[in-house]
Amino acid sequence: MSEAKYKRVLLKLSGEALAGEQKTGVNVDVVGKICDKIKQVTEMGVEVAIVVGGGNFWRGRNGHQMERATADYMGILATAMNGIALQDALEARGIQTRVQTAIEIREIAEPFILRKAEKHLKRGRVVIFAGGTGHAYFTTDTAAVLRAAEINADIILLGKAIDAVYSADPKIEKNAEKYDKISYLEVLEKDLKVMDSTATALCRDNNIPLLVFGIADPENIVRAVKGEKIGTLVK
Ligand code: UDP
Repeated sequence: MSEAKYKRVLLKLSGEALAGEQKTGVNVDVVGKICDKIKQVTEMGVEVAIVVGGGNFWRGRNGHQMERATADYMGILATAMNGIALQDALEARGIQTRVQTAIEIREIAEPFILRKAEKHLKRGRVVIFAGGTGHAYFTTDTAAVLRAAEINADIILLGKAIDAVYSADPKIEKNAEKYDKISYLEVLEKDLKVMDSTATALCRDNNIPLLVFGIADPENIVRAVKGEKIGTLVK
C-alpha cells in the first residue's frame, strides 16, 4: 500500500532552490539531491508535476534598466534553463520526464498542452512546466497555482528557503509566530509573504491547499507527500 497521502502533487521549485549556497546558477549536487527525493515520491505512485522558477538567473522585477516586459521575458527564458537542468537530473536517475513550456521553444521542450500533460502524468512521467504563465508581469508562483488548478493537483508543495509561514520575518522578529495552519484570507489580510497576492488569490478562489515547507532539506518533499506535519498548511 502506498504511504502517500496525495495522488497528484504540484511541486513549485524556485530558481534559488536549485542554486544552493551560491544563490545563482544551477548547483548540480543540490539539484541531484532534490531529484533523488522526487524519484522516491514517484516510486510511491504519486504523480508529480513541477513548476520551476528562474530567480537564480534573472528576475524581471529587480529594476533592470530596460522595459519591464523585456526583463520579464528574460526571466521566462531563465525558467526554461532550469526546466531542462531538472529534466537532465531526473533522467539521469531513470525517471521519464517531459518539459512543457508556456512559450514555444520546440527544439528543446514541448509546448504546454494540458491534455498531453495529463497523459504524461498518468503514465508516471514527471512533467516540468517552464516558462511561467508565458506572460510578463506574472510570477512562477502564479504559474504554479494555474497549472495546479488545470491538472487538478491535490496540493501545491511550495519549497522555500524558509521552513514555514511566520507572522513576521523570524530573522528580524525573534517573537515571530510560526503557523502550522492558516487560511488564505488571513494570508491576504495580514499581507504575509507566502506568495505574491495574485498567486494567493488564485489559490484561494480555486480552493487549492498549499503546503509551505523548507527545501533546504529535500527529504521534506517525501515528508510532505506522506502528509507529515511539516511547514505550514494554507487552506
Ligand atoms: N516571469 C514572468 N512571467 C511568469 C513567470 C515568470 O514574466 O509568468 C519572469 C519574471 O521576470 C520573474 C522571472 O521570470 O521575475 C523568474 O520567475 P520567478 O521570480 O517567479 O522565479 P523564482 O523566484 O521562483 O525563482
